[in-house]
Amino acid sequence: MDFISIEGNRQRLDGGAMFGNVPRALWSRWFTPDELNRVELATRGLLVPDIGGQTVLFETGIGAFFEPKLRERYGVLESRHVLLDSLAAAGHPHQAIDIVVLSHLHFDHAGGLLSAWAEGGEPELLFPQARFVVGRKAWERACNPHPRDRASFIPELPGLLEASGRLELVDSERHPLLGDAVRFHFSDGHTPGLMLAEIGGRVLFCSDLMPGAPWVHLPVTMGYDRNPELLVEEKRRILEHVIAEDLRLFFEHDPDCVFAVVERDARGRYVARCVESA
Ligand SMILES: [Zn+2]
Repeated sequence: MDFISIEGNRQRLDGGAMFGNVPRALWSRWFTPDELNRVELATRGLLVPDIGGQTVLFETGIGAFFEPKLRERYGVLESRHVLLDSLAAAGHPHQAIDIVVLSHLHFDHAGGLLSAWAEGGEPELLFPQARFVVGRKAWERACNPHPRDRASFIPELPGLLEASGRLELVDSERHPLLGDAVRFHFSDGHTPGLMLAEIGGRVLFCSDLMPGAPWVHLPVTMGYDRNPELLVEEKRRILEHVIAEDLRLFFEHDPDCVFAVVERDARGRYVARCVESA
């Protein structure tokens, strides 16, 4: 089984919001802030070209659907749809993807499903052959957001996914489309029903439970998380599983590290050791 990292659009976000209650003096050692106190983040996907004969893409990044004003507000660096170019360069254009798995529908994970913004145009759903695999709880949240996270969703997206007739909701650890190759874990600390994919018994797609290497350290959470204390408990549990099963973590947002293994340091803290850089 091959695991191919697919770079998407990059984003600059407020460092304080990304690192929750971590002091700036600490997080600025991990990621260097710019003059607006923002840190640069990746929004990448993971392509697995052969799961039971199907080409599967885990997440689509933020894409380029924002109009120019919102693109600037959310710090998206490129105006073109970088993930589409990366897929084509890898020999797997979006038209040829059989399954897209989405951990949740926040725009920096699902925005890449949509065509790039164009003056006067409506957003269109890309991936014309793909089935879209989404956790049921995350789907329900996207359809009925909370006032606190409403701005993180794309209002048009649920309707487009439903109208495609290719939406597949997941309720349990396995989905028939993916067979035994993918086992799903669920977490509620970041958003209800965040769906983490354990792929081929080798890689854990950990999504916003741990968006990059610094967040592997238990107390480090994001200001965007709805329930940080619950998230820390969920993280502890999944990290024990990761170590026991010798899994690699795939980081969607880490600007420098794509794959890491998890170790415990002399003081017993979980640390990520990068094994494949961006
Ligand atoms: Zn999120």
